[in-house]
Amino acid sequence: RFHQHYQSQATQHPEQMDAFWMPFSANRQFKQKPRLLASAEGMYYKTTDGREILDGTGGLWCCNAGHGRRRIIDAVQQQIATLDFAPTFQMGHPLPFILAERLAEIAPAGLNKVFFTNSGSESVDTALKIAIAYHRARGEGQRTRLIGREKGYHGVGFGGISVGGLPNNRKWYGPGLPGVDHLRHTLDIGRNGFNRGLPQHGLELAEDLERLVALHDASTIAAVIIEPISGSAGVILPPEGYLKRIREICDKYGILLIFDEVITGYGRVGKAFAAQRFGVTPDLITTAKGLSNGSVPMGAVFVRDRVHEAFMSGPEHMIDLFHGYTYSGHPLACAAALATLDIYAEENLFEKAIELESYWEDGLHALKGLPNVVDIRNFGLIGAIELASRQGQPGSRAYDVFSNCFHEKDALIRVTGDVIALSPPLILEKQHIDALFSRIADAIRETD
Ligand code: PLP
Repeated sequence: RFHQHYQSQATQHPEQMDAFWMPFSANRQFKQKPRLLASAEGMYYKTTDGREILDGTGGLWCCNAGHGRRRIIDAVQQQIATLDFAPTFQMGHPLPFILAERLAEIAPAGLNKVFFTNSGSESVDTALKIAIAYHRARGEGQRTRLIGREKGYHGVGFGGISVGGLPNNRKWYGPGLPGVDHLRHTLDIGRNGFNRGLPQHGLELAEDLERLVALHDASTIAAVIIEPISGSAGVILPPEGYLKRIREICDKYGILLIFDEVITGYGRVGKAFAAQRFGVTPDLITTAKGLSNGSVPMGAVFVRDRVHEAFMSGPEHMIDLFHGYTYSGHPLACAAALATLDIYAEENLFEKAIELESYWEDGLHALKGLPNVVDIRNFGLIGAIELASRQGQPGSRAYDVFSNCFHEKDALIRVTGDVIALSPPLILEKQHIDALFSRIADAIRETD
């Protein structure tokens, strides 16, 4: 009854859209021509006006197991009826302990400790704080500098926007945390344009880290944080060997390496984590999104055993990490995540991205030659189609393709700047890949 009541209220009174200040949205434009989703199942959303929309973005890079999964629904329903909330500060309930063990099993070897958050942004701020506190716990309290990367996106907390490299964050919110520096990004369409898989050029960009160490001195640097594959700035891939070289330099100078796997985690690139696909093990991994299939907000930070160990040498009655969220390890989120991990394991979804990778790649690269397409990038079940920007109106062309896809082609894609970024649920099949690319191709053809 609750659902019917609010659903019909929402559709019968579309004018009631004023109060919700939507995140990362052009609010006035949206409210003139809304895009409202009412329900979802499998690979499809259904709109409030009854259209079935093929989901090319896994919601927002989070619904890796597809929508409306019975197992997750049952787990959450049972959990809320049993234990709605329990504190995890000096208290506990069984689920986060069980979930952390399950997560340690799928994490890269050596990252066996898990700290729970509610989002990717919180995971990032948590990891940055752990990195700084780790050095202090070992008597190197002067290591507070954080190194991020241009075009990096690490969520919206002050820590995350500081190590991130998006100019809009500087423009609107000021310089951010002191003592942060950035590596250059690795996007180089001139040399790597229309390359399939990892770029062949750009390994030398990893040497930026040597330069920053020479500039700031290693003794001031706590950690480097990078996305193995950036999503939000338009799908930027690591050149062959780049991540391995960054790891080597971090090891040489005792700098912690954080992989932000909020979008690459939980099977997006054919292994549980991109760290495993690339064969490079960081000291901390930040995750969220796919952890609970997007159903209940949850994030998790994976921590290397020896990093965790540094916090365990004080008196046992002392709080070892002065950090946490009221909802860390929330019962509903844990129930959703446990059910999600069951689905991933039973349906072998982490392997799905590798099985389908070449079909996905072929379908995507077949769009080469369409009007205004200046680059195509892919890895795992991630795809990007970069369009030339209109003179003086960056982002407007991709937005028009997005709008056309949604309103006329019944396909949900995501655009960031003039890049179309694709991250479908991992349950997709070849027929969905065909349908998605043919609809996008038509929308690109119809856009000036
Ligand atoms: N880090 C990365 C790499 C992301 O892509 C995102 C979100 O897209 C975040 C952090 C922030 O996650 P959230 O929106 O859950 O705070």
